[in-house]
Amino acid sequence: MVTIYWMRNDLRLTDNPALCFAVEQGSVLPIYIHDTGVEKECGAATRRWLHDSLLSIDSALKGNLRVFKGEPLEVLNKLVADLKPDAIVWNRGYEPETIARDTKIKSGLQEQGLKVKSFNAGHLWAPTDILKKDGTPYKVFTPYYRKGCLAASVPRFPLQRPAKINFVETAVSDAVDIEDLNFIPKINWDEQMMRHWSPGEQGAKDRLQAFLDGPLFNYKEERNIPAVAATSRLSPHLHFGEISPNQVWYAVLDKCEQQGISVEHPDVDCYLSELGWREFSAYLLFHFSDMVTENFNVKFNKFAWRSDNQQLQAWQRGKTGIPIVDAGMRELWATGYMHNRVRMIVGSFLVKNLLLDWREGEAWFWDCLVDADLASNVASWQWVAGSGADAAPYFRIFNPVTQGEKFDPQGEYVKTWCPELKKVPAKLIHKPWEAKTDILRACGVELGNDYPEPLVDLKASRQRALDAFAELKNVS
Ligand code: FAD
Repeated sequence: MVTIYWMRNDLRLTDNPALCFAVEQGSVLPIYIHDTGVEKECGAATRRWLHDSLLSIDSALKGNLRVFKGEPLEVLNKLVADLKPDAIVWNRGYEPETIARDTKIKSGLQEQGLKVKSFNAGHLWAPTDILKKDGTPYKVFTPYYRKGCLAASVPRFPLQRPAKINFVETAVSDAVDIEDLNFIPKINWDEQMMRHWSPGEQGAKDRLQAFLDGPLFNYKEERNIPAVAATSRLSPHLHFGEISPNQVWYAVLDKCEQQGISVEHPDVDCYLSELGWREFSAYLLFHFSDMVTENFNVKFNKFAWRSDNQQLQAWQRGKTGIPIVDAGMRELWATGYMHNRVRMIVGSFLVKNLLLDWREGEAWFWDCLVDADLASNVASWQWVAGSGADAAPYFRIFNPVTQGEKFDPQGEYVKTWCPELKKVPAKLIHKPWEAKTDILRACGVELGNDYPEPLVDLKASRQRALDAFAELKNVS
């Protein structure tokens, strides 16, 4: 029996339900299709990651991954005509566009008499499985996670990597080389970024192990400190399915057992609940597909976002004159990643202090993040803007100075990414505009020359945001 196994964001051999099913049937042709028809193309950073991840999985498959470019239905129809397979299998994606595409493909293939099977491999709980008692979807995280997910069922236990895969030996036409997907940028901006990462299944396992052996049991406190590597940095690996959330979940439980620590330990509970936020984001997008572009809270449709390209560019380039914001934006540019606490700070600054549309921030993150993930990105941006489900209330405006002083008290994070401020004393590092000119001069900084003046006055822009958001209260 010949089975085509269509790989997507499940680039791993361990805990792979579709692959295991295909292997049990007989011989397997693993394929990857770069879908050229999608509305929202991958961003530049994820494309770069994907290039290495495909090379890595192809090598794990002993060079048997066949890669195609085009409309998936056309590619699959051609393969079906050439190969006459018995079945086609894949692991499901839950994004609205993927579901619409896959539903159409599934029925098209079934009409041709093929066996088509899809599996949930990327989520601890399939979004279809969790509903409130009245049959409607949850909109608030805590009841969704605690009452809906944890009370419903334990996550599926990870599957073993298949001991042996029999590959289809027939040659296939139209396959391309991974290089032909042109995911490597023509201008070499990616070298510095890729130094921070090791895409692929092994890279993911190494990251997980380092986290379990190190920061896990300090997670709750330290995860908010951007100068400390206290989080798992598994997000791009999870996005591309180089590791499943189930593997991470059970590895954490195993570690607790080995150490004799309860799974209710606050650090463990907090870490697992962050995986829960990933689930919740996918769940929201599945049930409320409009939120990719539309405000979850329709009151925000009346909100008059400003438009200011100069300020947007200053934010994108890390030149706002607000050190913690600039450090975050520069970390993002240099590494394809930004610490979660800082994502919230730069997000709040964009949508509240600058009053620029959350969709501008979402688009920039989409292009620059190696973990850019439609559900997590959109849900998080709407959360920051206050327009999302279970969102931060509009009047919660992060003050970047107090946030910096609280979470980066010595300014280590700022100094790493804004080295021109290296000599500024800790008490002024988050507000250099308050320093006397001669103090700054002694630190080698002249505002407006070595480092920007603040783009906006924080107090006045905060009040402007409060006034603008307060008007939403009157919107029916
Ligand atoms: P850890 O702290 O180690 O957490 C473990 C895992 O849990 C993460 O790898 C991630 O998969 C998941 N997770 C943690 N926090 C969240 C969260 N708030 N929402 C959803 N999942 C979470 N995350 C993405 O994966 N892709 C995005 O495109 C993305 N965009 C974001 C945009 C904004 C404005 C904000 C505020 C957050 C965004 N996040 C996004 C969520 C979060 O910042 C990252 O998941 C986290 O920083 C990744 O680092 P980590 O792997 O070390 O996380």
